[in-house]
Amino acid sequence: MPTSDAAESGSVADDAETSHGFALTERLAARQERGLRRELQPVDRVSARTRRAPDPRGGRPEYGEERLVFAANDYLGLAADERVRRAAREATAIGTGAGASRLVTGDTGLHRALERDLADAKGTERALVFSSGYATNVGTISALDPDVIFSDELNHASIIDGCRLADAETVVYDHCDPDSLAEAMATRQRDGAADASWLVVTDSVFSMDGDVAPLSDLCDVADRYGAWLMVDEAHATGLYEEGGIVQREGLTDRVQVQMGTLSKALASQGGYVAGSEPLVEHLLNAARSFVFSTGLAPPAAGAAREALRIAREGPRREQLWENVARLREGLDSLGYDVLGETQILPVLVGDRADAVALSAALRERGVVAPAIRPPTVPDGTSRVRVAPMATHTADEIDDCLAAFETGGREVGLR
Ligand code: PMP
Repeated sequence: MPTSDAAESGSVADDAETSHGFALTERLAARQERGLRRELQPVDRVSARTRRAPDPRGGRPEYGEERLVFAANDYLGLAADERVRRAAREATAIGTGAGASRLVTGDTGLHRALERDLADAKGTERALVFSSGYATNVGTISALDPDVIFSDELNHASIIDGCRLADAETVVYDHCDPDSLAEAMATRQRDGAADASWLVVTDSVFSMDGDVAPLSDLCDVADRYGAWLMVDEAHATGLYEEGGIVQREGLTDRVQVQMGTLSKALASQGGYVAGSEPLVEHLLNAARSFVFSTGLAPPAAGAAREALRIAREGPRREQLWENVARLREGLDSLGYDVLGETQILPVLVGDRADAVALSAALRERGVVAPAIRPPTVPDGTSRVRVAPMATHTADEIDDCLAAFETGGREVGLR
């Protein structure tokens, strides 16, 4: 048996004249050197408080002390909610997995009920659920098969990968800048390219900056050229009005493709597209990540459906926004520069080492909030991303603020 190191470094066949292996140990070392090596850290449960373990590799995790989580996308805290858990359990009566693609035998009444609820929340004719948000973006963009895609420069990786897979010409416009989009479209038009189809694609809430795309202005520009607009509401679904930012801005009839995930505020797994009947029929025929992938697991569908119902009721959302306001005001009064205007609070630090040091100082004080550094964000804009949940108590928000106060002082940021 080769050792795993030998296998990783591609040196198994020492007597071979040339190597066609993958040199993984060296590649990992190179990542480490560039500060890009990542680590898994198991938690004992998904909730506002968890115990974490150092990476056990193939072994059993050994959990440390309980910490406050200000780093999750489970914004409404519904992953630990008894009603959502019950819905997931009850859905196992249908099956623990879908057993096949939706187009074979994996389509159930529960999928259809979830899709009706999503279409209702998003104000569209129909919706279609996929097995992840990532699969939704790559499948949808490539199935639309646009000639040109106009994409915000800070769009999520799954949108970028969808653009690559679509093999379309992709024009990147400046972040949240309708003038930059208009200029890119005018240039394209002037060049006289004989394109049939143009797709503009943007996140609504940007996960690293906590800001919101100017959707109404983007609609105006897209309309001028008869282009379609696709909006990724991953970080907005269930949090704004009954749907997302598209609903808050009254743009339901102007956004042709509303995409989102079930994996963040809806406390489950999966993604969706909401839109017209022909859009959904086209996607279920042509989106390869839908056609050639097993249907969403029934417990995930059941959990998402119940979470959507709870989110639409309102009180959980109100709790979240109260926590967001308390935390934002507290950080402001401590003198921190907090970006954005949403439930995501990026605390701007600047220097990458300072951001890492602040995140470590918070961890020592029982608060988990990650440092976000280049290449994820531009040089000089390293930050600590703080995401409160509806289930944090006022005392827990105050504990987080106290950690920022003393931790920031220790690191020399205040
Ligand atoms: N879009 C955006 C904007 C996201 O932030 C994410 C997840 N981080 C996704 C899509 C992918 O969703 P999922 O995690 O459900 O695959």
